[in-house]
Amino acid sequence: MFDLNGIAELDFLRAEGSVLRIGALARHAAFHRSVVAGPTGALLAQVVAHIAHYPIRQRGTFVGSVAHADPASEWCVVARLLEAEIVARSRRGQRVLPASSYFQGTFATALQPDEVITEVRLPVLDPSWRTGFSEFSRRVGDFAIAMTAVAIRLDGRKLREARVAIGGVEDRPSRCAQAEAVLVQGGSAADAARAVAAAVKPMEDLHADAAYRKDLVRALTQRALEQALGGT
Ligand SMILES: Cc1cc2nc3c(=O)[nH]c(=O)nc-3n(C[C@H](O)[C@H](O)[C@H](O)COP(=O)(O)OP(=O)(O)OC[C@H]3O[C@@H](n4cnc5c(N)ncnc54)[C@H](O)[C@@H]3O)c2cc1C
Repeated sequence: MFDLNGIAELDFLRAEGSVLRIGALARHAAFHRSVVAGPTGALLAQVVAHIAHYPIRQRGTFVGSVAHADPASEWCVVARLLEAEIVARSRRGQRVLPASSYFQGTFATALQPDEVITEVRLPVLDPSWRTGFSEFSRRVGDFAIAMTAVAIRLDGRKLREARVAIGGVEDRPSRCAQAEAVLVQGGSAADAARAVAAAVKPMEDLHADAAYRKDLVRALTQRALEQALGGT
């Protein structure tokens, strides 16, 4: 085991063209201000307020959360929503892992035991995108029982592209293709939310059974979509 904190070159957070590069030492708290103009920065600033408590946000990192792969981690859901690239390095070299195959289960990832994540890259969405986020936890600062993050791309009033990502419900963060298709075909936020509830196979634990999580993620998805669609 070793401590990354002394490696100054991993302490960065910057936009380069259409990519936001988040170094391994960038703390959660850095995202309280909009780190990049437009929808990506606004979404990150909205989401960070839901992660633990402020003192924890001063110490914990975006990359540490992605490495840990808790299914109820907000950053893991954002990584899936935006289809992040996870940059892993070992003595064998560097490889770039797409978020779609990186998350493999509860606390399970495609990372090899000798690999360290040096950075996570997020796409910087252009202004034609709008985002929304909604989560439920028992107390402020607790891990979420369920959450939904959404991004939609509009062309005038016409919805051209939709992304719906959920967390805390299954063993890993995931996108819901069924709900995304409903939206692109002109369905409402409520239609898409019902599609999420129909598609998920929720886990059960002491906080919530499967039926409750299904209904919760439906309600959260509708709220997140209504935020994104607001004013259209
Ligand atoms: C009371 C409390 C409430 C919390 N609530 C939330 C919450 O609501 N949402 C949420 O997302 N988190 C929550 N957390 C967790 C918190 O956000 C941590 O910041 C997060 O787990 C990552 O911590 P860290 O960056 O210090 O990583 P660490 O704790 O240091 O590491 C986590 C794991 O990832 C590995 N790891 C870390 N960095 C790397 C790397 N660069 N490459 C490879 N492996 C690496 C470590 O070896 C370890 O196995 C909470 C924590 C507490 C104590």
